[in-house]
Amino acid sequence: MAEPSAAMVDMAKLVSLCQRRGFIFPSSEIYGGLSSCWDYGPLGVELKQNVKRAWWRAVVQERDDIVGLDASILMHPRTWEASGHLEGFTDPLVECKSCHLRWRADEVKGDKCPSCGGELTEPQLFNLMFKTFIGPVEEQASIVYLRPETAQGMFVNFENVVNTTRKRLPFGMAQIGKAFRNEITTGNFIFRCREFEQMEIEFFVKPDSAKQWFDHWVEERSNWYKKLGIKKENLRLREHSKEELAHYAKECYDIDYLFPMGWAELEGIANRGDFDLVQHAKFSGKSLSYYDEEAKEHITPYIIEPSAGVDRSCLAFLCDAYDEDVADGEARVLLHLHPDLAPIKVAILPLSRKETLAPLSKEIYADLRRSFMTQYDDAQSIGRRYRRQDEIGTPFCVTVDFQSLEDNQVTIRERDSLRQIRVPIAELKKTLQAKLEGEDLFVLPPGGKIWKEGKASK
Ligand code: ATP
Repeated sequence: MAEPSAAMVDMAKLVSLCQRRGFIFPSSEIYGGLSSCWDYGPLGVELKQNVKRAWWRAVVQERDDIVGLDASILMHPRTWEASGHLEGFTDPLVECKSCHLRWRADEVKGDKCPSCGGELTEPQLFNLMFKTFIGPVEEQASIVYLRPETAQGMFVNFENVVNTTRKRLPFGMAQIGKAFRNEITTGNFIFRCREFEQMEIEFFVKPDSAKQWFDHWVEERSNWYKKLGIKKENLRLREHSKEELAHYAKECYDIDYLFPMGWAELEGIANRGDFDLVQHAKFSGKSLSYYDEEAKEHITPYIIEPSAGVDRSCLAFLCDAYDEDVADGEARVLLHLHPDLAPIKVAILPLSRKETLAPLSKEIYADLRRSFMTQYDDAQSIGRRYRRQDEIGTPFCVTVDFQSLEDNQVTIRERDSLRQIRVPIAELKKTLQAKLEGEDLFVLPPGGKIWKEGKASK
């Protein structure tokens, strides 16, 4: 990992914001938490859903060559023999003879325990899959595994999907779901969890076009992060060396993000060749080939796999969005989250708590919430309420004031620039929709006017 950039957010500050504002909590916190398991709170669950929605939209909704899938977490145990996970999904571990902590052998410098300085054992292989039992009897024959990746569910459904969708090569499947790994080295907040979510594509292609599709996916996936606001200087592509390549991969690139602890993998894109279909055909006894009508022959497609983590993406989006500046002479913390990802899109803020403003404000709130995640906040000064929304990344605040009762107009304030416009209530929803889709704030609806230039500074 490279040296962290000085300009980046401090992880401790981000963790504190996430806990304080209800994005992410330690799992079962009242019992002291469970190592590397996290709960997404009211705002976190919105962020996470928005990340998944943006991904699904880009890879399924807006393409006609990918279909969705939702396979079960528990799969036939033979799956993991075929995939190589039972044999190969292992990390060499060393254990401290004094304090009994276990460490990944490749991450310990020297031959002493990093915690207590005790003597370490020889490395032993440790399988990362969680084991459990199906049915009432805990015996060898009933062992099943919590899937360590979503990919296998798509490989084993290759035939079902070809037969039911009439998809021809090249085509893909996309899946979002939980995966479980009994990770040894954990930490760095939600970067490495034992229970996490993946967003994976398995894209099936003719072998001679694999390189072209691999390049396509490296570019597509890098652009997705940039489109959603990740600064390009915080992203890099890293090619796996021959020694590092997984047993199934012909070529692999990581999209790395510059996290506070340094550069680390955000998504992996691999050319898996025909490994998976060949293995599952061998272990299941089913033919998983594809009839190529042009060549008039059966072929085994190659697979290009872009595999991303939902939790790691959330962490990267949060790190990239975190900022501190000065607004109207006051220091503020803000999240520059892309509007598609922001948990709350609009906040309705009556200027005062006086009874007279409540009915109109609540009417606007009731109308807007049918279209966007909207919050109503009338507690404390307007300045404090703006700060609260900035800190959770709400792109727009709508202020209802006494003049609104006379002229039926309200003010829209933009989070990042602090610019404000005044618009007729009748135009409000349409205007917000356009701004959330990226229209400049100062493009005015009929009857709208510029209210205030922005004054944010570093
Ligand atoms: P790492 O080297 O960081 O352990 P990996 O190469 O094992 O990751 P893959 O098996 O390629 O990861 O998984 C694809 C994606 O799933 C990763 O890029 C990451 O975003 C996510 N991911 C993998 N393991 C974890 C985990 N323990 N916690 C959170 N996300 C994970």
